[in-house]
Amino acid sequence: MSAIKENLEKIRERIKNAALRAGRDPQSVSLVAVSKKIDSMLIEEAIACGQTLFGENYMQEAKEKISFLQAAAQWHFIGHIQSKKAKDAATLFDLVHTVDRLKLAQALDKHAGLAGRILSVLVQINVSGEAQKEGVAPENAEELLAVMGELPNLKIRGLMTMPPFMDNPEDVRPFFRTLRQLAEHFAAKGYFDRRDGFELSMGMSGDFEVAIEEGATLVRVGTAIFGSRL
Ligand SMILES: *Cc1c(COP(=O)(O)O)cnc(C)c1O
Repeated sequence: MSAIKENLEKIRERIKNAALRAGRDPQSVSLVAVSKKIDSMLIEEAIACGQTLFGENYMQEAKEKISFLQAAAQWHFIGHIQSKKAKDAATLFDLVHTVDRLKLAQALDKHAGLAGRILSVLVQINVSGEAQKEGVAPENAEELLAVMGELPNLKIRGLMTMPPFMDNPEDVRPFFRTLRQLAEHFAAKGYFDRRDGFELSMGMSGDFEVAIEEGATLVRVGTAIFGSRL
C-alpha cells in the first residue's frame, strides 16, 4: 500500500475516533487535504484513494493545479489573499477560509458577482492576538461580520483560525474552544448563512484531534498525509 493511502486511512480513523470521543457524528467532520507545494501526481494519488477535498495556500500554484485536476476535486483556499488576487479567489474555489478584512470581502463579493456566483467564505480570527498572525481580532470580528452580511454575493459559513504553534496539542485546546464559543455567539446573532449550524476550520496535522473534540468541522491536514514539504 502506498504511503498516501496508508496515511489517509489512519487519519480518517483518527478523525472518526476523535468525533466519537466527543459524542459527535464523524460525518460532521471533513478532511481538507492541504496540498500546498505537493506535486499534482501525489494529489491524483490521493484522489484515487477517495480524497476529493483539497486546500491550497498559493494562488498561482493553486490555479495551475486546479486547471490540471479540476473536475476530480473540490478546492478550498486557505492562504493569505492579497486584494489584487481576489478575482482568482472568488472564481476558483468552493470555500475561502481566510477572509479577515472588509476590503478583501468587498473585492471577493465584486468578483463573485461578476462571475455570477455566490461565494462561500469563512472569517479568519486571530484568536491568540499574536502580532504577526493574519486574522481579524476577536473584538473586531462582529463589525466585520455585520458589514459582510450586507454583501450580496458572499455566504458567511463560519470561522477559521490558526492557533500559535505548540509542541503539546493540549496547549492549543483553549484557542480552539474560544473559536467555537465565538462562532456560537455569532450564530445566535444570525451572522451565518445557515441557521442550523456553521463551519469551524481548525486543526492541522499536529492537533486535529483536539480541534475535533472542540467542534472542528473542517480539519486542514497536510504533512500527516503527504509527508514533509520540501
Ligand atoms: C500548511 C497549512 C496547514 C497544514 O499544516 P500541516 O501541519 O502540514 O498539516 C493547515 N492550515 C494552513 C492555513 C496551512 O497554511
